[in-house]
Amino acid sequence: MNVTVVGAGVAGLATALELSERGFAVEVIERGRALGDGACSWMAGGMLAPWCERASADEAVLTLGAPSIDWWARRFPGTTHNGSLVLALPRDATELPRFAERTSNYEWLDEAGIGALEPDLAGRFRRALFFRQEAHLDPRRALPALADLLKRQKVAIRFGVDMQATATKADLVVDCRGLAARDVLPDLRGVRGEMVVIRSREVSLSRPVRLLHPRIPLYIVPRGGGVFMIGATTIESETRGGASVRSTVELLNAAYALHPAFGEAEILELGADLRPAFPNNLPAVRRASRSLHVNGLYRHGFLLGPAMARQAADMASAMDLEKTDADLRERRSA
Ligand SMILES: Cc1cc2nc3c(=O)[nH]c(=O)nc-3n(C[C@H](O)[C@H](O)[C@H](O)COP(=O)(O)OP(=O)(O)OC[C@H]3O[C@@H](n4cnc5c(N)ncnc54)[C@H](O)[C@@H]3O)c2cc1C
Repeated sequence: MNVTVVGAGVAGLATALELSERGFAVEVIERGRALGDGACSWMAGGMLAPWCERASADEAVLTLGAPSIDWWARRFPGTTHNGSLVLALPRDATELPRFAERTSNYEWLDEAGIGALEPDLAGRFRRALFFRQEAHLDPRRALPALADLLKRQKVAIRFGVDMQATATKADLVVDCRGLAARDVLPDLRGVRGEMVVIRSREVSLSRPVRLLHPRIPLYIVPRGGGVFMIGATTIESETRGGASVRSTVELLNAAYALHPAFGEAEILELGADLRPAFPNNLPAVRRASRSLHVNGLYRHGFLLGPAMARQAADMASAMDLEKTDADLRERRSA
């Protein structure tokens, strides 16, 4: 079957790759002019943290998300497998055991253990949870890496092409338009997320650090070269536009509380986007005659994108068999 994948966010690129690896003839169309243009995926922190996410997400996020660490490592060498660290300020110390109760696969660290992992945090926190199996990546390097793999497999990505304005002759359309697919998926909603990118010459971290807070838990993801992404708010609002002053202050406060030297850091970017989410906050692949919809990745585009891509490719393979059977029946009756 010929397949057109619509949308070059993480859902579209991961699905196109799975399909092409299974022998489908694939093309990707993307209405943006370049990778990341208009994609929520460009704003993501890139944490592959299924055990931590389980604190506030369904068990499926863990079972579907854990294998994605290998999926990324096999396709993107920049996948960093250094685990993640979870901390709380002294005033929020009770958050740490509460987080531990809701998660698994961690080790408790004392002050010395924290300093051994992250020397710049030595002496600043008494206890931490360390999720050794978790990983992270930079979405702005990971998406181009997937695009390169697609290119090597002769899969074209046609930029500046809007699905609504283009007729396709494909046997199957896989709609990965994120929130833009609301025209056909009316139960999709946007959940606002804001982030800040900073550069610090004084602080160095080797892994994502989560700072627990009763209201606004935040994280800092190192991107290399002194660059850090601080994220992310999760607000039930579909308001577009840049990061608000309140959210920016909260995000920057988290960095400052983690290490006061972040106070000297340079702000490189303030960003915001709407995460596409279904009512249960879990992603799904839905079938509608000759098309599939891969959507609802919410806070977990990089974590659950590979699992959704595999599901979509499984469904496409089943549809391919149905098509072959139907073609055979037609030929026999002719
Ligand atoms: C601040 C923030 C932090 C986050 N952090 C993480 C994280 O640490 N880990 C994680 O796993 N997830 C994270 N997420 C969530 C993740 O970003 C989303 O789940 C994911 O980006 C959704 O991907 P998508 O491919 O479905 O949508 P998108 O990335 O939005 O891609 C959809 C694409 O479709 C294109 N398109 C739309 N309409 C058309 C059309 N008509 N024709 C052609 N193309 C079209 C768009 O231009 C876009 O490129 C974060 C999100 C935010 C906002």
